[in-house]
Amino acid sequence: MKITDVKPYPVWVGSRNQCLVKIETDEGIYGWGEAGLSSRELAVAGAVRHFREFLIGRDPMQIGALWQEMYRSQYFEGGRVLTAAISAIDIALHDLVAKSLNVPVYQLLGGKQRDFVPCFATTGAHGQKLVEDVKLLMELGWNVIRTGIVHPDTGGDRHLYEPRESLALTAKSLVNLREQVGSEPVIGIDFHHRLNVAETASFCQRMPSGTLDFLEEPIRDETPEAYEALRRMVDVPFAIGEEFSSKWQFLPYIERGITDFVRIDVSNVGGLTESMKVAGWAEAHYIELMPHNPLGPVCTAATVHLAAAVANFFSLEVRTSPTEKLGFFDKTIFPVQHELDGARFPVPTSPGLGVEVNEEYLKREEFKFSESPHLHKRDGSFTNW
Ligand SMILES: [Mg+2]
Repeated sequence: MKITDVKPYPVWVGSRNQCLVKIETDEGIYGWGEAGLSSRELAVAGAVRHFREFLIGRDPMQIGALWQEMYRSQYFEGGRVLTAAISAIDIALHDLVAKSLNVPVYQLLGGKQRDFVPCFATTGAHGQKLVEDVKLLMELGWNVIRTGIVHPDTGGDRHLYEPRESLALTAKSLVNLREQVGSEPVIGIDFHHRLNVAETASFCQRMPSGTLDFLEEPIRDETPEAYEALRRMVDVPFAIGEEFSSKWQFLPYIERGITDFVRIDVSNVGGLTESMKVAGWAEAHYIELMPHNPLGPVCTAATVHLAAAVANFFSLEVRTSPTEKLGFFDKTIFPVQHELDGARFPVPTSPGLGVEVNEEYLKREEFKFSESPHLHKRDGSFTNW
C-alpha cells in the first residue's frame, strides 16, 4: 500500500474553522485526521502541504517511522504549527491502517482497556444558574463538571477582561456552588490562562479547601518554573497541557510534579503516536489523562480510541451536553460519528476511527478569517485570550 495524496481542508464548519486532513492510498483505503491549532488553520494546512511532498509514495503502515521523519525532517524541529500538522496526519494514518486491517484504531494501541469512556460536561453559567446547571447535570449522570470564568460588567465590550475583578466574582460563585451541591461532584474550572501567579494565589485563597477538584490552566505554560512557584502557593490540583506540542513540552510538567491531570490534545501533541508515549510517562507518575477535546468528530473519535487503550484515564472533555451545544458535529458534514450515551462514549467496534466525512461538502466550503477576542484590561494593555 502506498500513500497517493495528503489533502488538507481548512474550512468553516458550524461556527468556526476546522483543519481536516484526508490521506488517500493506491488501494482505495483512506483516513481522516484533524489538527488542533484553532484560529491559525491556514498555517497548519501549509505545513501539511510541505509534508505531502515526501509522504506521497510512502508506506502508510510505517506510522512510527513517518512520525519521526516528519518531526526530524527540518532544521527547525517541533513547534505548535508543525506538530498540529503531524497530529492530523498521524491520526489519519491510524484511521486508514486500522481500516486496512479491519480493526478499530485502539487495536493498534494495544487493545481496549475499558467498555466506555467517561466524559465531563462544561457550563459557562454562574451564580444561581450555575447551581441549577450542575444539579441538572448530576441528575442526568454527569459527575465531573467544569465551569468557566465569571466576567465583570464590561459595558458590552467583549474584548475587555480585568483579572482581579473576574477572580473575585468567580471565587464567590464557586464557593456558593460547592455549598449548594455538596461534596459529591468533581468540580473544576478552566481559567484559560487569564491569570498570573499572584492572581491565581489570590483566587485560590478566596475559597475554602475542597471547593475545587481541579484548576485548569490558570497561567500561561511557557515557563514551568512559574507553575512550580504557583504549585508551592496553592493546594488545588492542576490540569495542564492542552497546548503542548510534544512529549518534550510535557517533560517538566510530569517529571517535576507540576500537573495532576494531563490535558493532552491528540490533535496538537503529535497525534496518537505521541499521545501514547505521554500516557505511559504519566502512568509512571500516577497521573491520569483528562484530554482536551474542543474540535470536531474526528478529534473526538481519535481521543475515544486513545482513552479506550490506556489504563490511566480520568475523563474526556465533550462540548455537547445538556448545558452546552457547540456546532461542530453537523451530520451533513460528518454523517457517521461517535454518539454520546449519557455521560459516556461507548467504545466503538467499527474499523478505523469510526467517522465518515462528507468530502464534497468540504470541497464546496471555504475558509473564513475569524479572530478570537484580543483581550485588554481597563487601562488598555493587552492580556491573554
Ligand atoms: Mg482549557
